[in-house]
Amino acid sequence: MYDKIRKAVELLKGSIHAIAFTGAGISTESNIPDFRGNQGLWRKFDPKMASKSYFKEDPDGFWNFYAQRYEAIAKAVPNEGHRVLAKLEEIGLLKYIVTQNIDRLHIKGGSKSVIELHGNILMSHCESCFSEKFTDECIEEFKKNGKAPRCKYCGDYMRPSVVLFEEPVRLIDLAMEIACRSDYCIVIGSSLVVYPAALIPEIVKRQGGRLVIVNLEPTPLDCIADVVINERASVVLKKILEFL
Ligand code: NAD
Repeated sequence: MYDKIRKAVELLKGSIHAIAFTGAGISTESNIPDFRGNQGLWRKFDPKMASKSYFKEDPDGFWNFYAQRYEAIAKAVPNEGHRVLAKLEEIGLLKYIVTQNIDRLHIKGGSKSVIELHGNILMSHCESCFSEKFTDECIEEFKKNGKAPRCKYCGDYMRPSVVLFEEPVRLIDLAMEIACRSDYCIVIGSSLVVYPAALIPEIVKRQGGRLVIVNLEPTPLDCIADVVINERASVVLKKILEFL
């Protein structure tokens, strides 16, 4: 494993515009479950629970699912992996993080240039008039009576300001533009099966950049990657910093 990490470091040092692409796997070590890993949420819940149609069909059931997710996220703090990425940005080796995560842990961990493709769960908004409210207030309301929180202005349902299945991914154009300018992408903790997000590392590689994948399990892009490391994100990122 150390040889692979050394190679990932050499490629990083030789790059001009490096980015990281992160998924739920970087936050499992902060006790937030991922979706498709061994203990993933989609082994316990139907993925439709994070869909727009389920929100419309059963707002109370939808909020019950999000209340459980929010509970884990609200308690979580950045781990070593998040902190190393912030450090790499600080010393000028990493230009952006493009993340699929909604937990805000990159920003809490000190990273500044973070593109949240799926938004984040801190805020919620009304489906009709777009008035905003902190998600923790919505959760409080939900916990009181088991009913989905309503907008205090128009009475429609509130929802977390995250991208749901069946909705377009935010900032994907910006992320793709950044990928086109990048010559190195390190993927950390993503199954790389959800598109269009997974296009980001693919673009970097297909236009001549280097691709490093750090994930516990194999991914569909392993076959085009320069380095694949099947190890825990925090372990690998700590070593990357050490080997710089
Ligand atoms: P994922 O669960 O599909 O993949 C996570 C990967 O990380 C797994 O392959 C797992 O083996 C690996 N992993 C787990 N712990 C690790 C560790 N400590 N170190 C290294 N690897 C580790 O998550 P993803 O790739 O981020 O997938 C994107 C997801 O975005 C989709 O599953 C989709 O459900 C989700 N999504 C969520 C929302 C939302 O929350 N509102 C909206 C749209 C999409």
